[in-house]
Amino acid sequence: MSFVEDSLSANASHHMFKAVVSHAYAYGFIYPSSAIYEGLQATYDYGPYGTALKRNVQEFWWKSMTQLQENIVGIDAAIMMHPTTWKASGHLDGFTDPMVDNKDSQKRYRVDWLIEAHAAQLVSQGQPTQAKKLLEAMGNYLALGDLAGIDALMQEFAIVCPLAKTANWTAVRQFNLMFATQVGAQEDATTLYLRPETAQGIFVNFLNVQKSARMQIPFGIAQIGKAFRNEIVARQFIFRMREFEQMEMQFFVPPGTEQTWFDYWQARRKVWYNVLGISDDKLRFHPHQQLAHYATAAVDIEYAFPFGSKEVEGIHSRTDFDLRNHAHYARKKIEYFDPELNKSYIPYVIETSVGLDRLILMLLSNAFTQEKETTDGCKARTYLKFPPPLAPIKAAVLPLVKKDGLETKALKLWNHLKCDFAVGYEATQSIGRRYTRQDLIGTPYCITVDYQTLEDDTVTIRARDSREQHRMDAAAVADFLHNKTSIKSLLLQL
Ligand code: ATP
Repeated sequence: MSFVEDSLSANASHHMFKAVVSHAYAYGFIYPSSAIYEGLQATYDYGPYGTALKRNVQEFWWKSMTQLQENIVGIDAAIMMHPTTWKASGHLDGFTDPMVDNKDSQKRYRVDWLIEAHAAQLVSQGQPTQAKKLLEAMGNYLALGDLAGIDALMQEFAIVCPLAKTANWTAVRQFNLMFATQVGAQEDATTLYLRPETAQGIFVNFLNVQKSARMQIPFGIAQIGKAFRNEIVARQFIFRMREFEQMEMQFFVPPGTEQTWFDYWQARRKVWYNVLGISDDKLRFHPHQQLAHYATAAVDIEYAFPFGSKEVEGIHSRTDFDLRNHAHYARKKIEYFDPELNKSYIPYVIETSVGLDRLILMLLSNAFTQEKETTDGCKARTYLKFPPPLAPIKAAVLPLVKKDGLETKALKLWNHLKCDFAVGYEATQSIGRRYTRQDLIGTPYCITVDYQTLEDDTVTIRARDSREQHRMDAAAVADFLHNKTSIKSLLLQL
């Protein structure tokens, strides 16, 4: 399965992660994009169960951010925006990564990653002072945009290509991560960019939303949508993609109150992860040491992936940078009149920005469970322990056998449930095999229709995690599933 190999960086070939990636592919969660043409690097397609999982996560985020908040509304802005948007946001000039090619291996690297890996090596060789010197020098050169300085640093520290083991490098150059595209007929075509973040669609609509939905500060605007980045090095499966999905919320506050709201949103987001079943020992709130010039505070929410603790979400205090710049470039006044303070101002912004694909990888990693055979006769198995409301299929209706009227009875139950729940139906193969198949895609409950059902209209409910079964009236199944598997049951815990 070469795509599995391709998805892993050399230092991330952790056995468990490899198993998660293979599982996602084999059981209909995620495929490499255009796989019949050997795939397209850093792009992936979601299969039937991956798509359902993604929609459930989206629904939980969307409802927790908008429906549950009297002062947050949602929008859906276009992916293509006026090109000046990216001048104002700073992406045209500054959304770059430094890269370098090794002429022998023909491999391309992000210079900062190469240097960080070398510093880690120095630490492991007992040279922490050298490592610190290297990282500090890199930080200074990058801040100054001094790429020749980075070239010299690579030479000074004799940094070599991990593959070719040579220092035969091209000059370091900046690479803009935005995808450009031409719109219109050739002679008068305009260059547009696919949005590298969804946030700017919110900023350019600030006044539209504030006025048309009559919002009063503090208020927020939420959005879910695709973003595109021409990442130099694609890594770790769906962790770093060129086309991915973001769920962002910009919260507009009076200047001077940003720290309070920054703390507030950190606390709120932590609870959200806990409700998703992520325990505190797997979560890390990592404050940024180096802030963007316009930011007053920033924190990464990291999850302990099998390949290390890595960012899934950023919470940023962005001041009035974006709105002020759009006002400048659009030559429009973008201000809010605050009736309580009796004055106008450009609001400050606290942003929560999470990658949906990274959440999916987090949930898959967290749910992937391998159990050994137990002494009381339970067979070894692999299953996905999703929180039931997120599971792609909530329950599978299974007639014990296809004959004697059991199938008719089971189909009747399935028809009764299917408008309210994502329920599966399977009638072929042994019941044990069918349980196994549902375990592999993380279905929390299996409902079996057997001979006793014909007599008293009860069914068995088998729980995925404990493998225990109990009998229940068929008429009570819908209520049972609603209590256990609805998104509402998660929302109530927030
Ligand atoms: P990184 O440092 O990992 O490149 P970032 O700090 O550039 O991420 P942001 O610009 O803050 O990321 O974007 C917000 C969120 O969008 C990230 O926390 C992440 O979940 C997601 N994201 C960013 N880039 C990618 C990508 N290439 N593939 C998948 N998700 C991404």
